[in-house]
Amino acid sequence: MNKTLVLATGNKHKLREFQEMLEPIGYKVLTMKDIGISVDPEENGTTYGENAYIKCKAVAELCSYPVISDDSGIELLGLGRFPGIYSSRFVIEECEGSYENAFVVINERLKGGKDRGAEYHCSICYLENKDAEPVIFDGVCAGYMLDIPNGHGGFGYDPMFHCYENDKDFGVCSEDEKNAVSHRKKALEKFLEYLKTRG
Ligand code: IMP
Repeated sequence: MNKTLVLATGNKHKLREFQEMLEPIGYKVLTMKDIGISVDPEENGTTYGENAYIKCKAVAELCSYPVISDDSGIELLGLGRFPGIYSSRFVIEECEGSYENAFVVINERLKGGKDRGAEYHCSICYLENKDAEPVIFDGVCAGYMLDIPNGHGGFGYDPMFHCYENDKDFGVCSEDEKNAVSHRKKALEKFLEYLKTRG
């Protein structure tokens, strides 16, 4: 099996997490830039898995390597699991692109004793080639939204998230602490199991 994969993302945080997990077991993770392509397809799927597939497919059309991608988001239980697959768009379209603004808007919407429970979700898509059946792996990381953001670690919503599993605020976690319990790590572990079974 070809041990080189292309990661269909421009997100440096995601790239580092994928490289940290896959390179020690012999996989080389290339970026779109490494192979001289750039795509930004419209993510109009209705699930994380569909959006992850859309990203993979767009890249697989332009190269001959197997492609992986992830789509992720945060679900706020007190807001009917909003923003979910719209996590990135919510910040851009309703919060002027600022996570500080997003924290204020979210706190406002959670007023009145609403459930502050939150879950990060991640779906990883693996596409062997452009015509292959996509294989999807899911991961969830549960916690709650803090009243006041804490720290600047991680990215996106992390400064507002307290994780149950390690009992820590993600904004003050080291990369290793977050990566040990994150939604992306859990989906990646399933992907690694799949790769092992394929030899
Ligand atoms: P995507 O790149 O389309 O998958 O967008 C995912 C969005 O969900 C990101 O831009 C963040 O807003 C949010 N998100 C996903 N995973 C994380 C995480 O690990 N920490 C913080 N925010 C995340």
